[in-house]
Amino acid sequence: MAEIWKGGPVAAALNEETAARVRAFQEQGIRPALAIIRVGEKPDDISYENGACRRAEALGITVFRFTLPANASQREVEETIDHAAEDPAIHGILFLRPLPRHMDEERLVRRIPPQKDVDGVTDLSLAGVFAGKELGFAPCTAQACMEVLRHYGVDCRGKRVVVVGRSLVVGRPAAMLLLAQNATVTICHTRTENLVDRVREADIVIAAAGQRQMFGREYFRSGQIVLDVGIHFDENGKMCGDVRTAEAEEAQAVTPVPGGVGSVTTAVLMSHVTIAAGRQTKNRKTE
Ligand code: NDP
Repeated sequence: MAEIWKGGPVAAALNEETAARVRAFQEQGIRPALAIIRVGEKPDDISYENGACRRAEALGITVFRFTLPANASQREVEETIDHAAEDPAIHGILFLRPLPRHMDEERLVRRIPPQKDVDGVTDLSLAGVFAGKELGFAPCTAQACMEVLRHYGVDCRGKRVVVVGRSLVVGRPAAMLLLAQNATVTICHTRTENLVDRVREADIVIAAAGQRQMFGREYFRSGQIVLDVGIHFDENGKMCGDVRTAEAEEAQAVTPVPGGVGSVTTAVLMSHVTIAAGRQTKNRKTE
């Protein structure tokens, strides 16, 4: 029977590290702060925002909420981003996406300074992930996968990892972070041949195809570690992932949905805010 690797303990450990950093900042009179920019009233966005606010408050991180109506102009959103970008009391910017269709999202993202890009959405952040340099931040979900592996003591060195999914939000950055840990990484996608064989060969599987319960028994073998990144809802409204968790029973361990990788994402975001605050404070001191 596979062990179920929950995200809760991973998030709790990360939150402890973050809270310690916040306390150290408070002693210097600094309060790490995150700006959340939301356009419109989508229930999913509001629920994510409320969750992030609760977590931030518990950690002593200030949140500035910027809410614009769904019919806001591109200019208004740009001005909001510029304000958050220029305000030295704000250390990180989270910009809830996707935006209403009439907006040029790429142009907006480009206005976020990489040092405040705690969600890892700018080109420079991704360049940092690809080059292994401290530019911006890795996308939170890709980083959450790494935190799960770290927490449960997985040494990625030399391991065969298969990442299913090549999006810039999850698959590709996760693959690069794993490569940086000296894993041997294969990235699979919709044109991959013999996907079942590829996945079965892996020591570690990152399931990020965004296909509800796509991975069943035939994909798994004994000794594997399976991280399920997918977030879906079944016909009864119950949350589930890309993996049919019960069918990964041969594996050594599998992360559940809900309560797996997804529950680490907000903890990563908050950790990024405090790291951003640290980098910005250091830069200001040396200016
Ligand atoms: P995308 O739809 O952007 O990308 C999916 C990727 O999977 C694509 O590269 C696609 O290949 C590949 N893929 C799709 N179907 C198959 C298939 N049948 N076989 C092989 N590869 C396939 O999704 P995201 O990367 O944004 O998200 C992936 C999942 O992670 C989603 O379920 C999403 O809800 C979840 N998610 C979870 C988060 C969390 O906090 N846990 C945060 C963000 C996302 P191709 O490129 O060829 O089209």
